[in-house]
Amino acid sequence: MQLGAPADKMKIPPTLMEDMVTGFAILAADGQDSGIAGHLTARVEESEYLLGHRYGLAFGEVGEDAVCLTDFSLAEAKTGIVSPSLAFHVAMYKARPDIGAIVHSHPEKVIALGATGAKFEPVFQSALMLWNDVHHYDGYDGIVEGEKEGAKFAQKLGNAKILLLKNHGLIAVGKSVQHAVCASVIFHQNCRIQLDSMKAGKVSGFDNKKIKADALQSAYEFLNRESVIQMRWRQLARGARH
Ligand SMILES: [Zn+2]
Repeated sequence: MQLGAPADKMKIPPTLMEDMVTGFAILAADGQDSGIAGHLTARVEESEYLLGHRYGLAFGEVGEDAVCLTDFSLAEAKTGIVSPSLAFHVAMYKARPDIGAIVHSHPEKVIALGATGAKFEPVFQSALMLWNDVHHYDGYDGIVEGEKEGAKFAQKLGNAKILLLKNHGLIAVGKSVQHAVCASVIFHQNCRIQLDSMKAGKVSGFDNKKIKADALQSAYEFLNRESVIQMRWRQLARGARH
């Protein structure tokens, strides 16, 4: 791990470090590698420190030695160790104390869906883990390097799990690395299926008028159970190792 000035005061839980390395591997295996852009960060417990990765590396290149600790002032961004765009992560962590991890990536099919002007719609069962939890941001503010833009993302995200950034990519949040990464993987999969459906004809998702709300709610609750998220995470981790 690369350590910035404040890092020696912090103890990084070993499980968090392991989750970060696994999370990067899962995102790379899922096709969310974004070249030199894109981030996975985790808040270190309830502190004002976060873990990110060395600026310039793709997700698939991140091992333990490329995971970096920085505090909310992002001093490590000024020296080029971490991306200055982590400023929007800081803004989101400040706005949502329940958020423990954030994924930001640029999968082509997510961008393609957003570029059609269509809104995200769950089209397969597992995507009900995101039922009513996807918001959209259609604005554009240039390359984000400040907390001000981050605060705007946080406001658009509200209490949801995913923000689809038109012509840009996705932001997925969760209470842990596992939750944020699983949400981004399922979201990505749904975008691929939704796009295929759009090419084939009219998209028909879960119709609120025909399906009882408690069926959707119970699916949402099941898919967000901690045990189910952990099972999904372990399966994704095994897949990423092959
Ligand atoms: Zn981006």
